Amino acid sequence: MELTPYYQKDIECLHCKQKFKTTKVRSKFIKVESHHTDFQPIYENKEINPLLYNIFVCEHCGFSFTDDFTKYFAPGVKEIIQEQISSKWAPRTYGNERSIEEGIMTYKLGILSGTLKKEKFVNMAGLALRTAWLYRLQDKQQEEIRFLEMARNRYAESYSNDDYNGTQMSESRMLYLIAELSRKIGDIEYATRYFSKVIEKQNSSLEPTIVEMAKDRWQEIRVQKEKEAIG
Ligand SMILES: [Zn+2]
Repeated sequence: MELTPYYQKDIECLHCKQKFKTTKVRSKFIKVESHHTDFQPIYENKEINPLLYNIFVCEHCGFSFTDDFTKYFAPGVKEIIQEQISSKWAPRTYGNERSIEEGIMTYKLGILSGTLKKEKFVNMAGLALRTAWLYRLQDKQQEEIRFLEMARNRYAESYSNDDYNGTQMSESRMLYLIAELSRKIGDIEYATRYFSKVIEKQNSSLEPTIVEMAKDRWQEIRVQKEKEAIG
């Protein structure tokens, strides 16, 4: 039997505890060709995008989450989710193959659910960044910028609250992302400040690639400024 790129996985909802199915992409079908300057993976096969399947949308109650969400709900949060999401939810499934449009919808549900549940800023930033990447695939620049800005702000909050400690996010990567997303939304002052922080830490950084990337972007900003000065 030929292996298909997709398979179905059983998920238990963190909120209502009911079960539902979600689609995932088999890892042997995922080959990354390159990365964008903000780490967006460019896949070899443009037809299969695993980013579309990160969010589990509970078809029963609408609560939407990822593997990174904690099981813990602070007191009062379940009631808020019930009121803001579940009571308005018309049962529908996102369990099959998703279009980019549907993928974006699932990320928005994930951001709403995670924000109400008070998940870590670093996780919410990641969801906003992925939403921006999907808009980028659709060439919807205005929407892309809106979500890049949301991601930048959440990463900045995560950095100042140190809530990325113990996650896969390193300090260099975090500082680089804050800088690069700032550059992309046109906040050049912020971008320069944070690229400098990455470069300052180059002797202690375990990620020389990221330091090099920061130097390249910093150089690009300089060239751009010189061009503008000449007019
Ligand atoms: Zn549920």
